[in-house]
Amino acid sequence: MIKDQLKEIKKQIKEAAKKSARTEEDITLIAVSKTYPVTAIQEAMLEGCMDFGENHVQELMSKVEAIKENVNWHLIGHLQTNKVKYVIGKTALIHSVDSLKLAEEIEKQSAKKGIVTNILVEVNVADEATKYGFKLDEVIEVMKILNTMPHIKVKGLMTVAPFVENPEKNRPIFRKLYELSVDIQKQKLDNISTNILSMGMSNDYQIAIEEGATMVRIGTAIFGNRDYSKKN
Ligand SMILES: *Cc1c(COP(=O)(O)O)cnc(C)c1O
Repeated sequence: MIKDQLKEIKKQIKEAAKKSARTEEDITLIAVSKTYPVTAIQEAMLEGCMDFGENHVQELMSKVEAIKENVNWHLIGHLQTNKVKYVIGKTALIHSVDSLKLAEEIEKQSAKKGIVTNILVEVNVADEATKYGFKLDEVIEVMKILNTMPHIKVKGLMTVAPFVENPEKNRPIFRKLYELSVDIQKQKLDNISTNILSMGMSNDYQIAIEEGATMVRIGTAIFGNRDYSKKN
């Protein structure tokens, strides 16, 4: 099952990449394993998945413990400042930096460990009240501040697009995040890269790739529907 779904998704990624004059190597597939058991992760690893996304710190930590192989862990959910100390040094990338207070804590805890933490800045492109992230027009000022933090490396931007029936509706959202990344590049801030655009989920990843996504975060299309009644 997971094997077949992954095969299909990889085919779709390849086609969408072609439409934006890129290849499948330009796109990183993050298998969003939240709520799924360790066995599901192992099954995906057998198919070549090396990147996994989790949105809760506790669940991330228990999976990091359980999986001995060197996979890349992505924290994609809202991170509370008091939990930062647990994740520093465990993640390849924190996608969900949504406040300066959080960035400052990541800086502080990374300095303590003597490491640099890779992050993305989360943007609430559609300005939804229920979503985390900076507003579009705040991001350049935020980048100027993050540029001064030596233990943080900004690698790009992330957004969670609205849930829509027709994924075409999210095309303008993805395009805005891409355009923002171009505006940031023009600022020439030496510690800020915008190489990574983390956008697109099960429902709309093809459109996101067409609009420039370099990372897609896909859960249900790989693993099936999530069961929130079971605690992991
Ligand atoms: C759960 C989640 C995903 C994956 O969603 P699917 O619709 O299952 O692909 C992607 N990004 C974030 C931030 C998530 O929390």
